[in-house]
Parts: sequence; structure tokens; C-alpha cells
Amino acid sequence: MEILKQRILKDGVVKEGNVLKVDKFLNHQMDVKLFNDIGEEFAKRFAGTGVNKILTIESSGIGIACIAAQHFNNCPVIFAKKTLSKNLDGEMFVTQVKSYTKGVTYDVMVSEKYLGKGDKVLIIDDFLANGCALMGLIDIVKQSGAELAGAGIVIEKGFQVGGKTIRDMGVKLESLAIVDSMDNGTITFRD
Ligand code: 5GP
Repeated sequence: MEILKQRILKDGVVKEGNVLKVDKFLNHQMDVKLFNDIGEEFAKRFAGTGVNKILTIESSGIGIACIAAQHFNNCPVIFAKKTLSKNLDGEMFVTQVKSYTKGVTYDVMVSEKYLGKGDKVLIIDDFLANGCALMGLIDIVKQSGAELAGAGIVIEKGFQVGGKTIRDMGVKLESLAIVDSMDNGTITFRD
């Protein structure tokens, strides 16, 4: 997605540890017009797949998923919670995810009330690195008995293993910008 790539080149900052900071438009301050373009692009790429629910993970995926949902017939958005919350009653689908940026492992959960057989789920997230977050969300979809339509990622770091692992599983994975390298602070995209 050319407009996204140009924005990453303009406002992205490469940090230590292969972390790309895009706080100016994606992860802290949010460019809603760009989010809308991203949602439209996901809708094109997943057209005809019958998506009726979008699943993401708190917190950075939420804004993107909500805007995207408007391009999927205003379908509900569920965000997986990272810690046990008193507000969540009843049974949960639970999985474990290792955080790429924080280096800790936490429980991720979705209420059984909101996902189940008959649902066709699109997973949306901001980044794909080693694939832990996405694998966790896929596991939750499997536990629920819902069908996975695919996964839409805004920025995939193609030099890390997540993309290959998930594509090898046969999942329809669509990343709008794939960064192939960030050596010496220079961002290079896959064509
Ligand atoms: P993974 O689980 O695929 O290793 O990492 C994906 C998650 O880690 C994303 O949900 C995102 O929040 C975070 N993440 C991974 N790499 C980056 C990065 O380079 N920049 C930012 N801002 N977040 C990242």
C-alpha cells in the first residue's frame, strides 16, 4: 500500500532491537484518514470472504480494527484482553502470548460469549514480527470453533519469522507494508 509505505518512510523511526516506531500516526497519535484507507484496503483484500467479526488485541490494534469494521458492514470488533479483568464474567478462551516489545509473557483472553461456531473471523493487528501475538489470536479462534478468514497486518517486519510461519500454516495473511530491512536506520520494503 503505497501511501502507507510513504508515511512509514516520512514518520517512522528505527529504534534499537529492530523496533520501528510509528507513534506519529499509528501507535500513539492516530491518523484517522490513513486508518480509513487501511480499512478500505483490508476490505478489498478480504472481499468475498464473508467476514462477520474482527478480532484484534489491545491496545494498538483496536483503533485500526474499529475503523476497518466500517468497511466490513460495521461488523463487531472484539479485542483480546491481556490481563484478567473483573469486568469479564463467565468462561474465557485463554492463550499465552510473548510480547515482542516488552519481552514478557502474558495471558490473552476473549469471552466465550463473543466468538463461536458460525463466526467468520478476520484478525487485524498493527505489527507482525515473530508472530506470537497472531499465533495467540489464531489459537483463540480455533478454541472458539469459529472459522478464520485470514489476518490483516498493517506493518510486517519481513526479516522476522512470523510472516513465513503463518503463511506456511496456510493462513491468508495480508500485510499492507512489508519491511525487508531496517539496517543502519534505512527502511527497505518488499515489492
Ligand atoms: P510478534 O508477536 O509478531 O512478535 O509482535 C507483534 C506485536 O508486537 C504487535 O502487536 C506490536 O504491538 C508489537 N511490535 C512488534 N514489533 C514492533 C515494532 O517494530 N514496532 C512497534 N511499534 N510494535 C511492534
